Amino acid sequence: MRFREVIGQESVKSMLVRGVDEGRVSHAQLFSGEPGCGALPLALAYAQYVNCTARHDGDSCGECPSCRKIAQLAHPDLHFVFPVNSSSKSGSTKPTSDNFLPQWRELFAATNGYFDEPMWYTAINIENQQGIITRNEADEVIRKLSFKSFEAEYKVMIVWLPERMRTEAANTLLKILEEPWEKTLFLLVSQAPAKLLPTILSRTQEVVVPRISIPDMERYLSQKYGLGGEQANTMARLSGGDLLEAARLIQGEKEGATQLYFDLFVQLMRLSYNDRHMELLEWAENAAALGREEKKRFFANSIRLLRESYMLHAGMQNICYLWGPELDFCKKFAPFIGNHNIEPLVREMELASAQIAQNGNPKIVMTHFALTVSKLIVRI
Ligand SMILES: [Zn+2]
Repeated sequence: MRFREVIGQESVKSMLVRGVDEGRVSHAQLFSGEPGCGALPLALAYAQYVNCTARHDGDSCGECPSCRKIAQLAHPDLHFVFPVNSSSKSGSTKPTSDNFLPQWRELFAATNGYFDEPMWYTAINIENQQGIITRNEADEVIRKLSFKSFEAEYKVMIVWLPERMRTEAANTLLKILEEPWEKTLFLLVSQAPAKLLPTILSRTQEVVVPRISIPDMERYLSQKYGLGGEQANTMARLSGGDLLEAARLIQGEKEGATQLYFDLFVQLMRLSYNDRHMELLEWAENAAALGREEKKRFFANSIRLLRESYMLHAGMQNICYLWGPELDFCKKFAPFIGNHNIEPLVREMELASAQIAQNGNPKIVMTHFALTVSKLIVRI
């Protein structure tokens, strides 16, 4: 993957390129950011740049043997560690990342490295389990590093989601990070660096990957989906600089899914400010019947609508990203949202979403959630 294939992020790219060109290659780096913003593609582009034998114009050549093998994730000196779990596909009870390399390559090729944890778990068929990085895996890392590099200048170990490491795995990794191995790079790619051990954080150099800028996203969306100027701009803003969110929004527009989440939000809020408890229970039952990912998307969408309503209430119309029916509803709904309840409401949504993600009983979670929300929504 060449830097030019990574969407936007020009300042991160030039910082990375400058580092290599000036001979400053830190042995442990932490690429942190939302999965839809390109931290993983950037890490791979960096690995390719470092090992390219014909770098030019601030990018790898894409043609030398090293570039070709890295682009296919098939270079003998490029290793991956990512969360996995036992499943029928691995054929092993103690699987490590290598058991899932075919699926990893496939998903990477299909998405150019823009994928998140749920997409990965779907690809390896463990939607209902949490992936982990085990001690076993960490031992495997040490074994691989003990070989001399086969052909590249740098051996590269990309660890995707190090926050999923078990404690023993983290401690093993820490030992490796404490003593740099010659010509070996550790590229950690995290979406929740705050969850990493402070000792690991202190031994890595952080590369913060921000959200994709609106103009970059707009350009990408009009090329990829053929959206017109205004539509591309709206989608780029609604996505908040997150490519996966943009793809979902566009997909949702096609399938009417966004409409479903919006309708559910409107129903919930109407029932709440009218104190219709019996109907709230019915609402909870309907919402509980949605799929797990759908429920999570409903919460994400509702948090967005709540925040926008709060902005409207605070008179910040100019930075409101709503339009059409959403704007109409949220304008009417804004008086119910203020300093007294915006934070508890968002917290309640995040909590319920996390409980759903952890396989909490949907009916219990949604019922408790709906009743809590209704208590928080009162006319002021
Ligand atoms: Zn090359």
